[in-house]
Amino acid sequence: MDRVRDIIIIGAGPAGLSAAVTASGYGLDVLVLDEQPSPGGQLYRNIERAEQDTLKTLGSDYSSGLALVEKFRKSGAEYIGNAIVWRLDPDCNICFSTDGQSTEISGKHIIIAIGATERPVPFASWTLPGVMGAGAVDANFKSSGIIPDGPVVLAGSGPLLLSVVGHMAHLGVEISAVLDTTPRGNILSALPLLPGALRRTDCLLKGVGMLLNLKRSGINYFKGITDYKADGKDCLETVSFKTKNGSQRIDAELLLVHEGIVPRCDFTQQIGLKHLWDPVQRYWYPETNESGATAMNDIYVAGDSAFVHGGIPAELKGSLAALDIAGKLNALSLPEKTDYMVKITKRLSSELAPRPFVDALYKPRMGLYNISDDTLVCRCEEITAGDIRQAILEGSREPNEIKTITRCGMGHCQGRMCGTALAEIIAENLKLDPADLRPLNIRPPVRNISLSELSRVALLEAETP
Ligand SMILES: Cc1cc2nc3c(=O)[nH]c(=O)nc-3n(C[C@H](O)[C@H](O)[C@H](O)COP(=O)(O)OP(=O)(O)OC[C@H]3O[C@@H](n4cnc5c(N)ncnc54)[C@H](O)[C@@H]3O)c2cc1C
Repeated sequence: MDRVRDIIIIGAGPAGLSAAVTASGYGLDVLVLDEQPSPGGQLYRNIERAEQDTLKTLGSDYSSGLALVEKFRKSGAEYIGNAIVWRLDPDCNICFSTDGQSTEISGKHIIIAIGATERPVPFASWTLPGVMGAGAVDANFKSSGIIPDGPVVLAGSGPLLLSVVGHMAHLGVEISAVLDTTPRGNILSALPLLPGALRRTDCLLKGVGMLLNLKRSGINYFKGITDYKADGKDCLETVSFKTKNGSQRIDAELLLVHEGIVPRCDFTQQIGLKHLWDPVQRYWYPETNESGATAMNDIYVAGDSAFVHGGIPAELKGSLAALDIAGKLNALSLPEKTDYMVKITKRLSSELAPRPFVDALYKPRMGLYNISDDTLVCRCEEITAGDIRQAILEGSREPNEIKTITRCGMGHCQGRMCGTALAEIIAENLKLDPADLRPLNIRPPVRNISLSELSRVALLEAETP
């Protein structure tokens, strides 16, 4: 374990797997670490052991991942599953934990390919048992075939919401209602971007198909809704919401929420890289060049953790990062590298053609974070929107300052759940653009490990000659 690898890749999703296949193809020494038990990432989770029913429900978007995982298995890259990376250093040292034992290793280059996560948006009673992210259903179904009992209400906006509705309907789950929060005006601002998206009518037709299936299914579909709330004593009992015709309430045992997808910036924030703010999808993403290289030359970011573009683009971005590193290590000639990179970039540009239209269509609504003072924002430290607003009233203007004063973002999730909400609340109160704010500083360990495990890492380091 102590040899210095050419590349250590964090994440075995489409981006990490494709980077590993490409780099191994040039004879590089590659190690891939992933916290899941098997390769595939979010999109191709558990693909090697998927049951026929799962393959049938999820279709070719999912089953096509098997070919990539098989290529990876044959590539010669080393894979360690159940490996939770909890620290990255700018000098390419990594600490990861497997079976309660942490190890420190070193690479010449690192590719961060840890993907994306559903945007956490606080709302009244979002902590009630029975409220969860829609993507969690997708993850549970892929990994263990678990499907929820009804009645289920789904709320939010974005293609993934429609996709989860389609899968659940196919599986016969009782869906009481779909509450679509996409603002009606979004279509108008997205329309000028439609001609660019028409380069990929196949992608647009897929989206239209999901909407038509939802309409044909007979499921109650409410558009342009606002202010959905979870209600119940000890667990979810009803979901209330507003339409243009007034307020409504529906019985539900499960509320699945989805308000879009945002990059995971755990390590790019932890090592202090610069992040930029995307004003359309309203998230921070790390600054990289077209190959995914960062200002820390040996550290790359690939896939959705660089910017949310989806599965195929994630694969292509993984290959670009690997090719760039292979070039630096003289594993291929400059003309060969340039030739491959041009071809991949061309394909990437075609894959990304519909993206500006889709991103504008599903732009998060105004007032998404306009939540009541008693709503919990930081679940780990139990800090409410009111606590944050009070700190602003007392003169704080910056997320990291409010973190120090209130402990918002200081808990074990290290601000993954509350960091964006904190910035949006500050921006709204001070009439600023979140782009003017700095995201939370994240400190290692970025994941939970026990003190005894930490003390043993220190011992291992002390024993290294
Ligand atoms: C909940 C959810 C559901 C989605 N469903 C779909 C879908 O059905 N169809 C679709 O087209 N797109 C879907 N997407 C988008 C899709 O995830 C991506 O486009 C694609 O998987 C991105 O590939 P990636 O390699 O960048 O990241 P991912 O596929 O997310 O892979 C990242 C990998 O990094 C690992 N990882 C993260 N942190 C650590 C750590 N600290 N230590 C070790 N390993 C770590 C994760 O376990 C994961 O395997 C979904 C996204 C989310 C968040």
